[in-house]
Amino acid sequence: MSSFDRINNTYFNYINGEWIASESNKTEASTNPAKMDEVVGYFQKSTQGDLNKAVSSAKQAQQQWKKLTGNVRGDFLLKTASILESRVDEVAETMTKEMGKTFPEAKGETLRGVAILRYYAGEGLRSVGDVIPSTDSEALMFTTRAPLGVVGVITPWNFPVAIPIWKMAPALIYGNTVVIKPASETAVTCAKIIDCFASAGMPAGTVNMVTGSGSVIGQGLAEHPDVNGITFTGSNTVGKKIGQAALARGAKYQLEMGGKNPVIVAEDADLDLAVEATISGGLRSTGQKCTATSRVIIQSKVYEVFKEKLLAKVKEITVGDGMQEGIWMGPCANKNQLDTVLSYIEKGKLEGAALLYGGNRLQDGNTGSGYFAEPTVFENVNTNMVIAQEEIFGPVLVLMKVESIEEALSLANDVEYGLSASIFTTNISNMLSFINEMDAGLVRINAESAGVELQAPFGGMKQSSSHSREQGRAAIEFYTSIKTVFVK
Ligand code: NAP
Ligand code: MG
Repeated sequence: MSSFDRINNTYFNYINGEWIASESNKTEASTNPAKMDEVVGYFQKSTQGDLNKAVSSAKQAQQQWKKLTGNVRGDFLLKTASILESRVDEVAETMTKEMGKTFPEAKGETLRGVAILRYYAGEGLRSVGDVIPSTDSEALMFTTRAPLGVVGVITPWNFPVAIPIWKMAPALIYGNTVVIKPASETAVTCAKIIDCFASAGMPAGTVNMVTGSGSVIGQGLAEHPDVNGITFTGSNTVGKKIGQAALARGAKYQLEMGGKNPVIVAEDADLDLAVEATISGGLRSTGQKCTATSRVIIQSKVYEVFKEKLLAKVKEITVGDGMQEGIWMGPCANKNQLDTVLSYIEKGKLEGAALLYGGNRLQDGNTGSGYFAEPTVFENVNTNMVIAQEEIFGPVLVLMKVESIEEALSLANDVEYGLSASIFTTNISNMLSFINEMDAGLVRINAESAGVELQAPFGGMKQSSSHSREQGRAAIEFYTSIKTVFVK
């Protein structure tokens, strides 16, 4: 059976090396936020019973998978990478149609997925431990690494290829098997990635996908006694629940959650560069990145000039269906997301912030059939306002004026989140203050807040994370346990 029933446009679960329908006999539609009545595909509305089968097949498969050499496991990832690369246009188009980001962005993300697979294939041949001098002259002491066992993967819709892959690839290379529950919004995109693993000949049970609701399948994974580690990216509310469920049964967990990321524009900054990065960081992917720039903190001396340059560029943004050429910003991912964005804009107005640009749903011409919001800019925003504190996850920038860099840093840190932050400055002491004082897992100088490189650690501070790190070599810390070996 293939991943997909062409006649009914229906995608299946992938369990124990087979594409199968849920025992519920129910499916759900995945729709296009740029064309509300377009169904991209139907996915399985799975049950706890489906999940149990997937977990037990992962548990069984892990006994053999962990015995393979890293080199052999790496070959499977390399094959998966080549298959995904050959299907890049198809996968990217599915992503654009399911969640709205523009096709070039979706393509870039899919190619990043390919690169991540290749990076972790290489991890299969890199060292996993240290030799540590023993106090016993006749002993050899060293560390090695053991896989956790079965890893549960729960992912959001905003990076539907990169995030599943940056969790599954390290899990697999270090000898774990995987059960993924993707975001319902992007279940079809996930089925296509899983199909690449399947086509690469991954042994049955090593990779499993079960789609369905977060509260049944997601929570079910977090609570399942045979799931040894759970890795989650998504909202803080859901992340906390998952962390608690995992903690309650002593499973390892990793949570990457929201952000409210600042950019500081110093009076000595290259303003054109700062404008470009603020727009790219804040509004690409319709502001739906956890690392998106949300608060723009500007020194008063350059405030007016920066503001005018920013507005001029924001006005040029083309909004529409991300499959169309010339479109820079797509729709919000779904109706809920659009409603949330519009309600934050209303809160901003009520609290007395000044709306400089945008603020409305777009409903004329092509945008009438989708969930489009205007790129929006507020000023006269103070730090206690809801729009300065809560993650909006939409195309909204708030401008804040400060006198000094000290004041800028204190505002930048005045939120519960600490994922990413950037500063534009040519002054070395501003740079050093920013590096030292900024409470964020990712600090970027003269570069937008939303930049991630797959070979470097990624994760947040404060409420943005469970304080673990993903990607690069840092991933080994979550997906394995250290075993200290003493031989005499
Ligand atoms: P979400 O609502 O928390 O959903 C994330 C995943 O959790 C989805 O697969 C969802 O399934 C599932 N889920 C929902 N309720 C659940 C429950 N009670 N128990 C277990 N799982 C459950 O987040 P989202 O709206 O998809 O994504 C947006 C959020 O992700 C933002 O806050 C953003 O900042 C964050 N994010 C963080 C990072 C990072 O690395 N820090 C990266 C990207 C996004 P359903 O789809 O079926 O509901
Ligand atoms: Mg959709």
